[in-house]
Amino acid sequence: MNVMGTPQRYIQGKGALDLIGEVIKDLGKRPFFIADATVMEIVRPRLEEILHKEGLQGTFVEFKGQCCRSEISRLAEKVRDVDCDIAVGLGGGKTSDTTKALKFELGIPLIIAPTIASNDSPTSRLIVIYSEEGVFTEALILPINPEVVLVDTAIIAQAPLRFLVAGIGDALATKFEAEQCYRSGGLNFFKARPCQAALTMADTCYQIIRRNGILAKKAVETGLVTEAVEQIVEANILLSGIGFESGGLAAAHALNQGFTLVEETHHTLHGENVAFGLLVQFVLENRDRDFMEEMIMFYKEIGLPCTLGAIGLKEVSEEKLHTIVKHACRKGSYIYNMAVPIDEKKVLDAILMADILGH
Ligand SMILES: [Zn+2]
Repeated sequence: MNVMGTPQRYIQGKGALDLIGEVIKDLGKRPFFIADATVMEIVRPRLEEILHKEGLQGTFVEFKGQCCRSEISRLAEKVRDVDCDIAVGLGGGKTSDTTKALKFELGIPLIIAPTIASNDSPTSRLIVIYSEEGVFTEALILPINPEVVLVDTAIIAQAPLRFLVAGIGDALATKFEAEQCYRSGGLNFFKARPCQAALTMADTCYQIIRRNGILAKKAVETGLVTEAVEQIVEANILLSGIGFESGGLAAAHALNQGFTLVEETHHTLHGENVAFGLLVQFVLENRDRDFMEEMIMFYKEIGLPCTLGAIGLKEVSEEKLHTIVKHACRKGSYIYNMAVPIDEKKVLDAILMADILGH
């Protein structure tokens, strides 16, 4: 079967947050807002004004910062206490994922409003759960995608540039991973084959990044929201989100999972690890020299890591590299969605080769 999943509605634009009252009314009556302390301070007065105008009552609860079982239970308990019927998550990936997890506990509709565009999780059913100490423990998959994803580009453009660039790294990999998955006969996150629509979105995502990436970076550096920024935000969140979930992943994300096992990469963002993982994937695909050179030039111009050192692994021991490779090549890994045969030695050599080319 070919299967594709999307959020029911995607809203994006400068000032989009002002529409949240109408969106809430379409889905429920009593919204439950989740945001960390910093985001809460910025958005709460504006949200209270909107609720007042729409004649709605809402509850605001601060997110403690970790998407872990105890935090999910604490928030679910609060939603039950105040009898809210819709959850609204405002923030980064962990806030989004914690909010999404409330659907598991309570079955209520979701509005996900990312305040940074650093990864492609908002539209998907995927939830990454960590221990309280921040170690990955499990990935859950919701039965359906979030109802609404609402993206205010004016807010996204104010966030530190590094987040947007990391999001570009995550989105850059989408097309190449989906293509490998398609060619190898691999499955997407619906345990099905990718629809052509998902592959087209992944391809458009890449075209937008190459056309607008540098321009968007320059705009955000100076606090501007240009059309290039709008298109990059759509690529990072919507096109990459649907592209990865419905198109499937491959080596770039498998390597990211390996990188996150070693503590040296814990200050590196998801999209940065994925970007270096994508260079490794290109080596596995045996891309030609012109392609590699051109791609690495783009990485350097936009500010994505193209060496092991740039993701925190400057003088990484052989033992740790082995840990990364072993994890990336474990049974059931996305790496087997590659259309070339995979073994640990080949992957290790590809990592070292990508590092050499990056230098
Ligand atoms: Zn990703």
